[in-house]
Amino acid sequence: MKPVDYPLNALMQITNRPDLVFVKGEGSWLTDSEGRRYLDFIQGWAVNCLGHSPRVIVDALTSQAATLINCSPAFYNEPSTRLAQMIASSSGLEKVFFANSGAEANEGAIKLARKWGGLHRKGAYKIITFDHGFHGRTLATMSASGKPNWDKLFEPKVPGFPKAELNDLASVKALLADDVVAIMLEPIQGEAGVLPASNEFLQALRELTREQGMLLILDEVQTGIGRTGKLYGFEHSGVRPDILTLGKGIGGGVPLAALVASEAVCCFEPGDQGGTYNGNALMTAVGCAVLETVGAPAFLRRVNEASAVLRAGLTALSEKHGLGEVRGAGLLIALELGRDIGAALVEQARAEGLLLNSPRPATLRFMSALDVSDAEIKQMLEGLDGLLARFK
Ligand code: PLP
Repeated sequence: MKPVDYPLNALMQITNRPDLVFVKGEGSWLTDSEGRRYLDFIQGWAVNCLGHSPRVIVDALTSQAATLINCSPAFYNEPSTRLAQMIASSSGLEKVFFANSGAEANEGAIKLARKWGGLHRKGAYKIITFDHGFHGRTLATMSASGKPNWDKLFEPKVPGFPKAELNDLASVKALLADDVVAIMLEPIQGEAGVLPASNEFLQALRELTREQGMLLILDEVQTGIGRTGKLYGFEHSGVRPDILTLGKGIGGGVPLAALVASEAVCCFEPGDQGGTYNGNALMTAVGCAVLETVGAPAFLRRVNEASAVLRAGLTALSEKHGLGEVRGAGLLIALELGRDIGAALVEQARAEGLLLNSPRPATLRFMSALDVSDAEIKQMLEGLDGLLARFK
């Protein structure tokens, strides 16, 4: 392993990074420049759905790189048209626009809804979003997010995102007005600490938006592509949105995201939407490989088996150490710690070769590779058990 012999401070400090440089990844394991190995239950924040450097992605990248990397979004290319077909037929929504990040896909969803509101709802442009929701870090998606402490950042915000409470229909109804065009939410609020919207709530929102002639937008950047044990998170509730956004898992680690919408809603005209890298052949070839792999019934069956093993293990730890709730779906699971020890626990876990995430001070979130093995889950649980004993 080549040691890193230059300073690490030329990168902008956008987060407090530990003093480690990762140089290699393989499945559920990362290796740093000192040769230390880490069992990774973060996976780039639920991004590497097939783990680190999986063979299918390496093969898709190398064969596509040798064939065609990029032509221009002004021309069709084979992988992007194929991936669009695969997403359209699996989601039941007919049209796809590829983006490079979840925030960009959500920005596109906001633009599409506003354009539709201009055409069909007398200029309605407001989108009801939710407290604690997270939709990205562009100005509009930060404005749409309900992350605590963001309300004062980068003022003035993009207007038009009144906030309701998750799973509280009355709070949504209280915000209805002629200038509201859509409701936008995550089926499970991931960054908020894995807080699921109930199936009943999602079904009520679908009914309400139909009744009011409004759009329903589901941000499945975190919950999409097998993460919850179904290909799309919306399959749990049976609520198909008008607009769906995908990111993270769709690229399995490369920058790829998608804005997906029903034909009836697709009102973009040439010039409204675009971007240099949108539908890039190299990235969409990876998307095809990911979707072919994750979409296989046997793959999703295994995600659900792994989920059951993880849940059972975390529930046992919760009982043993007197902790709180275990919640979530598939391989997006949270454990409530009951005390604000998340950050300290994550740091100690890392020192012991285990990568965990604490999205809230008293919450751990587990986002392993979707093909994590039972042995790896067991190893993580044993490590966590030891840590929890010491954090009494
Ligand atoms: N939407 C949701 C639900 C997310 O979890 C995230 C990222 O965590 C985003 C949007 C933003 O995606 P990106 O970081 O790719 O812009």
